[in-house]
Order: sequence, then structure tokens, then C-alpha cells
Amino acid sequence: MKTDQLWKAALGQLELRVSQGNFLTWFRNTKIKERKEEIVVIETDNPFAYEWLSKKYRPIILDVLKELDSSVIQVEFSVPSHVQGKQTARKNLRVIAQKQRVPQPIPTPSVAQPINPPSFKSSFTSRQSPIPFNPKHTFDNFVVGPSNEVAHAACRAVVDNPGEAYNPLFIYGGVGLGKTHLLQAVGNALLEKNPNFRILYVASEKFMTEFVEALRHKKMHEFKKTYRDIDMFIIDDVQFVAGKDKIQEELFHTFNTLHSEGKQVILSSDRPPGAISALQERLSSRLGAGMVVDVKKPDYETRLAILEEKVSRRGSSIDHEPLSFIAKNIQSNVRELEGALNRVIGHSEVHNEKITVDFVKQILHDLLEQSQKKMINIKEIIEAVSTYYNLPPEEICGKRRNKEIVRPRQVAMYLLRKESSMSFPSIGDYFGGRDHTTAMHACEKIEKLLEHDEELSQEINFLKERLYA
Ligand code: ADP
Ligand code: MG
Repeated sequence: MKTDQLWKAALGQLELRVSQGNFLTWFRNTKIKERKEEIVVIETDNPFAYEWLSKKYRPIILDVLKELDSSVIQVEFSVPSHVQGKQTARKNLRVIAQKQRVPQPIPTPSVAQPINPPSFKSSFTSRQSPIPFNPKHTFDNFVVGPSNEVAHAACRAVVDNPGEAYNPLFIYGGVGLGKTHLLQAVGNALLEKNPNFRILYVASEKFMTEFVEALRHKKMHEFKKTYRDIDMFIIDDVQFVAGKDKIQEELFHTFNTLHSEGKQVILSSDRPPGAISALQERLSSRLGAGMVVDVKKPDYETRLAILEEKVSRRGSSIDHEPLSFIAKNIQSNVRELEGALNRVIGHSEVHNEKITVDFVKQILHDLLEQSQKKMINIKEIIEAVSTYYNLPPEEICGKRRNKEIVRPRQVAMYLLRKESSMSFPSIGDYFGGRDHTTAMHACEKIEKLLEHDEELSQEINFLKERLYA
């Protein structure tokens, strides 16, 4: 098996598992340097990336490599000797950042940070030019369908008439449904039309980090200049500013300044403005005052079209059957769909196997199981239990506490929890407004019984088989 193919396949997965900024910063110039049986050595030409990769990204890299090639059990990292120790890591990063315009990494506060992140002071001085947009996120390779056509049209309109068409434009929807892609497509399209257009794209976490750093280093003036001396402001995942009053205030003023000068503002969020709790009323109403559009989950035809687009972009080809199988079965979101496709292609390249439906089933078995679970709905479970124990559904969900009803009811609660991942409070609600502790107790009880009750375990297996038949 070729190591460069293995790494290419791994990068395809990693790109979808870390943020774009982090991916570009840390994985840019990496390769597999050597393979010592079960150990894979990854080389980067940047000592700073070496630190981050080995301290922060090791588990996820190992995870992805193992998934592609089960004989891998360890990863190591290295930097070429000529860059080692010549400069301090920090200095080196800054040089690279200036030369190549590498975006500064966004530290995730919840993750323990092994070393100090690069100085955010430098992100002001080094960002004379805007962060480049991901060249893959263009309108050309955005597949339009009923789930996203309104959002797409609004973005197009903004490109045609920035600051005039829809200002602000607010795009919301669940994860992996193309919000970032659309925001960046706007940026790419506008820069193509006019390379001097000053567009600032920022993830809201980065806006916050820079704000905090600016306060700490008394650089508010620079901060304001950075965010106001522009032609267009794009802020991604704005829901994260919820509950952070000072930052909301700053965002409010930034917004007002830009808006009053007729500068276009585009925002994205996982919820509509009014549904972001702990967002100040005045900010929420300002942000929602322009055009608010959503992106939904794509239907089967759109999913298939997206897969076809991605396959042809990669210059690969896959038969219709396996492709349609993936489109039918991976329904959650486009990120997962793309991840599934990359995994299938990666495996087929690494192991040199043809992509068939069986091959797809084998490679994606865990994902398929998961998505099957999600499709089993509450009604089906109650119906199955009702038929099996010969009790009407109203009895199972009702209030009576007869002995012959209690056990089937507990089984139903157990299955709802295990097979459709319903929360305890919702299960309680569903069963005649019972408390969540009742649902918890029922599940614990069944679990306990399953340890030795052969008959019950057969009943449950039988019910599961019927559910998944
Ligand atoms: P979000 O920001 O909504 O979480 P992203 O924009 O990051 O989602 O999309 C996740 C992945 O799916 C990206 O790789 C993106 O290119 C891809 N994608 C999403 N929607 C589409 C689409 N309609 N056509 C092509 N690719 C898409
Ligand atoms: Mg996004």
C-alpha cells in the first residue's frame, strides 16, 4: 500500500473533521515520511505545526489512519532537520503566516492547550490582507436543490448588489448543510469580480478571541479599525456570541457602523436570530432586520447530485448503484455525506478495490447502523411492543399500573432510549406525562434484568429484529 495514497485519503477525512482554519494551518505541508510497520511517521515542515499535530491532533490522526488501515497502531511526528531549532517555533510561524497568509489558528477554549497558542497580537499586524477563502467553496460546486435554493439565491443577489440587495443577510440551519460554503462562495465570487474589495470573513469564536486579546493588550483601536475599515463583513456561526455581553455590544456597534455606511453584512447561525437565547434583544432584532433565510437537509435527489458533483470534481468515477446507495442511506447532512464518500474512495484507492454496493456497506457499516437507528421512530417502537405483548398502544403509554402492563411499558421505554436515542424527559412525557426519573428507572431495570433473564433478552432481540426488518 502506498503511503502517499494513505495520507491523501486520511487528509480527505481530516479536512471534514477539523475547522478550515486549523486544517490549512496545521495540515498544509504534511506527508507520511515513512512507515515502520505499524508506526506511521508524519512530517511537517513547520516546527510549530509539529507541536500542535503531535500534542493536539494525534488522537484524531491516529483514528483516521486506523480506520483506513487497521494495521496502523501508532503515529509519530517529525520535522526535517534543516528547519529544526533554527528559529523558535513562534518566530517561524509568524514568518510563514506573513509569507503564505496562513490564517491564525482558533484555539478551542474547552480543549486543554498543550502550549501557548501563537500570539494573537500578530494576527492584527500580519493580517494586512484578508484571509484567503477556501477555493473549494464556490458557487460553481455548490449544488442547488429545494433545501437551499432560497439561501443560494440570496447569496447570489448579494454578490450582484452588495450592501443593497439584502442587508444584513442572515443564513441559518443545522450543521453541515452548507452555510460556510455559501458564505465563502460569496467572498470568492466578489473577489473575482473585484480583487480590491475588502471582505473580512471571520468565525465568531475568532472575533471573540481577538476582542479579548485587544482588550488585554490595549489594542481596541486596531481591533475596531480591522473590523470597520472594510467593504463587507461576514461572520460565521454567530450563535456562539450568545451570553457574552461585552462581545455582543462590540458586534452591535460594528454592525451599526458598517450598516449605516451601506456596507454588506452576512451572518450565519445554527438557529434563527430570535431563537438564540441570551442574545441581547436589540442585537437580535438588528441582525434579523434584513433577509433571513434557512438551509435545510437535502432530499435524496440533491444528495445524489452532491455526490456526483464531488466524484467528478475528484476526477474519480463511481457506478450509479453504489452512489445512489450512499445517497439513500446517509441523510443527516452534507458534511457526513461527503465524509462517507471520501471514506469509500479512500479505502478503494488504498486497497485498490472496486466500489460496489457491498464494498460501500462494508466500509460504512458503522455509519449505516447509526442512520438506521435514527430512522426507527417512536411510533414503530410502540407498535412493535403493542403487537408483541398483545396490548393496545394506549395501555402501554397510559397510566394504569397493572402487572401485565408494567413490564411491556418498561421494555418500550428501554427501546425508545436505545434505538431512537430519545431523551429521558421526552420518554417520560410520551408516557402520560411521567417524570424523567420513571423513564430512567425503567431503562435501568431492564438493563439489570438483561444480565441474567434469558427470556427477556430473547424478547428484546426479537423486537429489535422486527424493528430493523
Ligand atoms: P455548515 O457551515 O452549514 O456547517 P459547510 O458549509 O461547512 O456546512 O458544509 C459542509 C460540507 O458540505 C462542506 O465540505 C461543503 O462544501 C459541503 N456542502 C454543503 N452543502 C453543499 C452543496 N449544496 N453542494 C456541494 N457541497 C456542499
Ligand atoms: Mg459552518
